[in-house]
Amino acid sequence: MRFSSLGSGSRGNALIVESSQARILIDCGVALRPLREGLAQLDILPESIDAVFITHEHSDHIKGLKSLARQYAMPLYMTHGTAIKSGLDHLPQMNILSHFSPVVVGDLLIQPVTVPHDAREPCQFVISTQPASDQAAKKLGILTDLGSYTPHIIESYQDCDAIILECNYDESMLQNGPYPMSLKQRVKGDWGHLSNTQAAELLSKLQHQNIQWLVVAHISQKNNQAALACEAIKAIFPHHERMRVADQESGFDWLEIA
Ligand SMILES: [Zn+2]
Ligand SMILES: [Zn+2]
Repeated sequence: MRFSSLGSGSRGNALIVESSQARILIDCGVALRPLREGLAQLDILPESIDAVFITHEHSDHIKGLKSLARQYAMPLYMTHGTAIKSGLDHLPQMNILSHFSPVVVGDLLIQPVTVPHDAREPCQFVISTQPASDQAAKKLGILTDLGSYTPHIIESYQDCDAIILECNYDESMLQNGPYPMSLKQRVKGDWGHLSNTQAAELLSKLQHQNIQWLVVAHISQKNNQAALACEAIKAIFPHHERMRVADQESGFDWLEIA
């Protein structure tokens, strides 16, 4: 399994995950043209994507979805709340996700995980390969857009081979930053986003010794700096050679789980 991001942050998110038998898109928060350009750089034609999974209806996760769905007929998967709130529930290729049931696409098993975030029915995803009997399964955890973490989240993200983890803001940068008070409260609330400190704390509760790739993601451009996020994470996960930062504009290049 390998994965690559076309962008990560409050201005747009899109992630490609592929295995020998499947290629899926997680979120479509960039407009169709930059999405096509980003995919072209990865040598991917939009029509070769087997399915699109959406975490929630905030525009940084669905901006290009309507145009993509209009032009290509690939199946879409999202929760009922996300489908209704994004106004796409009428589409013929819509499939409603249950938080309790995984979906199989080729040899990938996609498990939605409920997260506390201020959207209608948000989820994040844990993706595993269903390998031939001579290989071990691989597990990728995607975890952004959550204001706090729950026992269910800690349980769901154990033993990941790779994890994409939100480090949205630095507490003092948010406190002293340009956001109005109401937005500051929203971001740091239990239904907002994870701070660097919270992300490190969550990571300390996960089995992280075997993580091959740890991607610091969904970094706020106003309330955080990549260096601060990495510093917080390195206190728990000191393997800088296995760490990457997801950039708002360029995401990150292919990372392969060995
Ligand atoms: Zn977001
Ligand atoms: Zn969001």
